[in-house]
Amino acid sequence: MKAASPFSFPVSPALATKLARLGLTRDADLVLHLPLRWEDETRLTPIRDLLPGQTAQVHAAVREARVAYRPRRMLTVSVEDEAGGVLGIRFLNFYPSHLKLFQPGQSFRFIGEVRGGFLGLEMVHPRFARADDDTPLPTQLTPVYPTTAGLGQATLRKLVERALAAPIPDTLPAGWLAELGLPDLEASLRLLHQPPLDAAMSELESHRHPAWQRLAFDELLAQQLSLAAARAQRTQQRTRPLPARHQLTQAFLATLPFDLTAAQARAWAEIATDLGAPHPMRRLLQGDVGSGKTVVAALACLQAIENGMQAAFMAPTEILAEQHYRKLAQPLAALGVKVAWVSGSQRKAERAAAWQAIASGEADLAFGTHALFQDGGAFARLGLAVVDEQHRFGVGQRLALMEKGVEPHQLMMSATPIPRTLAMSFFADLDVSTIDELPPGRTPIVTKLVSAARRDDVLARVRESCREGGQAYWVCPLIEESEKLQLQTAQDTWATLAAQLPDLRVGLVHGRLKPDEKQAVMAAFQAHEIDLLVATTVIEVGVDVPNAALMVIEHAERMGLAQLHQLRGRVGRGSRESVCVLLYENPLSELARARLKVIYEFTDGFEIARQDLLLRGPGELLGPRQSGLPMLRFADLERDVALLEKARDVAARCLDSRPDVAARHVERWLGARTGLSQT
Ligand code: ADP
Ligand code: MG
Repeated sequence: MKAASPFSFPVSPALATKLARLGLTRDADLVLHLPLRWEDETRLTPIRDLLPGQTAQVHAAVREARVAYRPRRMLTVSVEDEAGGVLGIRFLNFYPSHLKLFQPGQSFRFIGEVRGGFLGLEMVHPRFARADDDTPLPTQLTPVYPTTAGLGQATLRKLVERALAAPIPDTLPAGWLAELGLPDLEASLRLLHQPPLDAAMSELESHRHPAWQRLAFDELLAQQLSLAAARAQRTQQRTRPLPARHQLTQAFLATLPFDLTAAQARAWAEIATDLGAPHPMRRLLQGDVGSGKTVVAALACLQAIENGMQAAFMAPTEILAEQHYRKLAQPLAALGVKVAWVSGSQRKAERAAAWQAIASGEADLAFGTHALFQDGGAFARLGLAVVDEQHRFGVGQRLALMEKGVEPHQLMMSATPIPRTLAMSFFADLDVSTIDELPPGRTPIVTKLVSAARRDDVLARVRESCREGGQAYWVCPLIEESEKLQLQTAQDTWATLAAQLPDLRVGLVHGRLKPDEKQAVMAAFQAHEIDLLVATTVIEVGVDVPNAALMVIEHAERMGLAQLHQLRGRVGRGSRESVCVLLYENPLSELARARLKVIYEFTDGFEIARQDLLLRGPGELLGPRQSGLPMLRFADLERDVALLEKARDVAARCLDSRPDVAARHVERWLGARTGLSQT
């Protein structure tokens, strides 16, 4: 029995497996498998005209082939062309069949880079094919495709050619294309696969050619459409609406010693409206470090609670979860809200009691880490889940929330701002609220770059600042290779600093402390029983001690921009003049220098995220969320912003009036992968 080929022509199972590795499972995929580059095989160069460094094609006959053993085993072939030019060919890897193939008198075409060798010009590992004198030369440029082990260019080319034999119907109406100034799909694809000799090579190579633009646009449109589908699916899901009742929320606002900033008020209004809708909210609340997201999240919880539902407030680390709990428990209890706290470090009985309160519905609000959703406990009536610092949660942890079959409203918070282009593309299925101003009265943070050679000056400064009643952080160097070394370094740093600053109370917090030990240190720092807190990057996220206005970061050159920005955000929270000292060790790599320059020049997290994107591309910023999402192959979010905007408009137009166009387009681009939707 023969399995039906997904292609319109026969493909052996072995070949199909290799193609699948490239994501090629049907004709349409082959048509969209575009070359990395092109080679000019349309011309032959006489051997005597060859120049070292040039890539060229020659047509020549074998004079002699033999295996040499010095300096290592290799196959050397000497060839001669019609005009009498002689060229050496060398293969360092070869099979006995090669030796048989290169019989004296047989002619071949060789394509490769010409080098000046010991015995004259040569090519090492050229591509070659048997060819008689009258074998016609191609008349178009030859595509070089992305491929995988065991799948040669020749095979791939033939397959693509076959797939291209059928006409390629356009997915978009001609009138729209004219408006958009984009070329026809079929012409674009044929041109990219087989550019004519007179094609504008530099435009093709830089991907600025209109044909590439068409492909980039189509890809972005497919992405916009599939995200819109995911969103539409969500708005069809029903959940319990939690409309604003202005009871607990108003009362809470009245207890705050400050007014919400305009940006907080705006974000809060957006969230309050979402919560009142009968389908689950998926909103990302982004705001720079210190912009006051917690208060807004607390208001959201209260709106759920005043509707008789429960809320969960999750943070990525114990320190942070406990800090939220400690800060909010008391003011909320004063409003009659019952609060529970679930932690990995709790005694069994304590934890069981917390779960008992949550499961019976007695607790209105639960604070915790992801243990809240992995403990096996259940909420009596969960209405809202708040996920703080959502970029720190892995995919698995987010899935755990879903698998429970819970469809509560969700509010995600992030201090790693998503640049606009990413927000418009990969995050387009989320609604986003942005807090774009800091509460008043913050003193701007002064950032100083100081060579590690001047560590003594920095120590003097720390002493002085603490003697004047301030507190400080000292962040230990990041040692990615080994957690053990990292711990060792933290302890050494602490011992050294304690010895060098005997008049200060020096504390230490690191990732290996037990949660209650960690908590004890943080509480002591908060209560100003510690002047200088030596810390590993565990304090990166969310810790809030307004009296700490000085931070020293050792080996700042080893840290990423987002991390530096988060760390620096621990200071500048009170009215004291805040300083962040970045100690660096010379020599600096180019990238490290560029990063330090960015963190020195910018304090705005959005700008820093944009610079970060420029320095390292979108991949890392997307983090775990990335996995499972089709990557952009042709579009480049920095280069193609204008196309992205057009794609978003066209997607809206499709969904409004031309669902047939949307369906056709998504089918061509995503085919079997259409089911890929994300939450
Ligand atoms: P983040 O957005 O980084 O989570 P937080 O919610 O921890 O920031 O807030 C940082 C600090 O700012 C907290 O001490 C909080 O009480 C304070 N804060 C929040 N909103 C305001 C405001 N509108 N006016 C003054 N202080 C505020
Ligand atoms: Mg926070």
